[in-house]
Amino acid sequence: NVSVVVFTSDLRLYDHPPLRAALDGRRSVVPLFVRDAAVDRAGFAAPNRLAFLADCLRDLDEGLRERGGRLVVRSGDTVEEVCRVAAETDADEVHLAAEASAFAQRRERRLRHALEAEGRRLHVHDAVTTAVPPGAVTPASTDHFAVFTPYFRHWSRQALRRPLAAPRAVPVPDGAVSEPLPSRDGLSGLSPALAPGGESEGRARLAAWLRSGAEAYADRHDDLAGDATSRLSPHLHFGTLSPVEVVHRARRAGGPGAEAFVRQLAWRDFHRQVLAARPTAAHADYRTRGDRWRWGPAAAADAEAWRQGRTGHPIVDAAMRQLLHEGWLHNRGRLLAASFLTKTLYIDWRVGAEHFLRWLVDGDLANNQLNWQWVAGTGTDTRPHRVLSPLAQARRYDPDGAYVLRWVPELADAADAAGATRAAVHEPWKLPERVRSASGYPDPIVDLAEGLARFRRARGLD
Ligand code: FAD
Repeated sequence: NVSVVVFTSDLRLYDHPPLRAALDGRRSVVPLFVRDAAVDRAGFAAPNRLAFLADCLRDLDEGLRERGGRLVVRSGDTVEEVCRVAAETDADEVHLAAEASAFAQRRERRLRHALEAEGRRLHVHDAVTTAVPPGAVTPASTDHFAVFTPYFRHWSRQALRRPLAAPRAVPVPDGAVSEPLPSRDGLSGLSPALAPGGESEGRARLAAWLRSGAEAYADRHDDLAGDATSRLSPHLHFGTLSPVEVVHRARRAGGPGAEAFVRQLAWRDFHRQVLAARPTAAHADYRTRGDRWRWGPAAAADAEAWRQGRTGHPIVDAAMRQLLHEGWLHNRGRLLAASFLTKTLYIDWRVGAEHFLRWLVDGDLANNQLNWQWVAGTGTDTRPHRVLSPLAQARRYDPDGAYVLRWVPELADAADAAGATRAAVHEPWKLPERVRSASGYPDPIVDLAEGLARFRRARGLD
């Protein structure tokens, strides 16, 4: 008897419950990845993520080959391809990890129907793509938590299953035909400093992080120039690391840094349980507040200046340039850039979320859309009217201007020419006109006080 294991956002061999269950007492297993055409059509297949995905699939294939198997890759509609592969290999069961999005939930339903019609069974596994599955903890009165703090209290008390070792052998039947593995070659529009993908890379990064990075996390995670966060987000997005295993290992490492890090992992599960319960929150406001909350007319030139990192507000521009260059952005940079777009420029959060999804290698429907909504005040923030002043953020999280200087180097020369301190780069409008225009750095596209006043009027706060 043969089983098919469908890999989606769980591209690993360690701690993989579907693979373990499929191997239990079976003769052979077909490890299958389907490059789903609907993901491309939805515009979700951004170049940075396709490149990272290619690394992940190659590494997964190598891991399987070391165990006597190989990866089978197909493209098309996941449901049709899984049924086809199951028929070709005469598999009687299929294993799949549960996922939160509307797309994934529909895929699961369709797959169950299609397989059952052919007399095959679908097994769906929880706690593969999350540490605590959506719906495992709920408030007394409703189907999901809308506020993080009480969610986290319950989340922390959940007993997690023990992480599984990687299998020693994965026998794959002969009949399973694979397309060539996708590769990075031929992809254009990549960020120049994109991180490499794959389970081996993810595990090495996790080990290094727990050995030497996590300790200082509680104190330094917001330091923009210090870059002292784990950078594990793409690995968690593609599932080259198991959230259950990461939580276990971080707890074992112990200390305030690891504790603060685990709390961030709970945010990931939090957003997934919101999205699983309210799949429309991927594109519509989670909280609707009527006409007063309508966004201003999308100012195309302002939005474009924001995308390019040319708003004239250095800390915002630094963040936006890091995003383009690395396909990744520090959480503090995401927060202040998103607040600037939605609250200072008063542009719809979807405009920003779309741009982030175009570039982020960890671009993730639950985390991206729901963090954007959190910042915009349409989501789960209990203080929806808070505005992050770029200048206050810059002074607090980049006090000596090191982060701005890394990404907006033209301001270094300007500050030097004016004989100003490095911290002066946060307010280039105070530099002499001559120096400023020589630097080529733009004047602010919006005055912060005017932006704030517009926001308060639009929200009916005055
Ligand atoms: P660390 O600080 O080391 O945290 C560890 C892990 O916890 C992260 O890898 C991530 O999986 C999780 N995590 C941390 N913060 C959050 C959070 N606020 N919400 C959910 N999970 C979190 N994260 C994504 O993974 N994909 C996205 O598309 C995404 N879009 C975002 C958009 C906006 C506007 C904002 C404000 C945040 C977004 N985040 C997103 C959350 C967060 O910024 C990133 O997860 C984090 O910066 C990744 O860096 P790290 O791995 O070094 O994080």
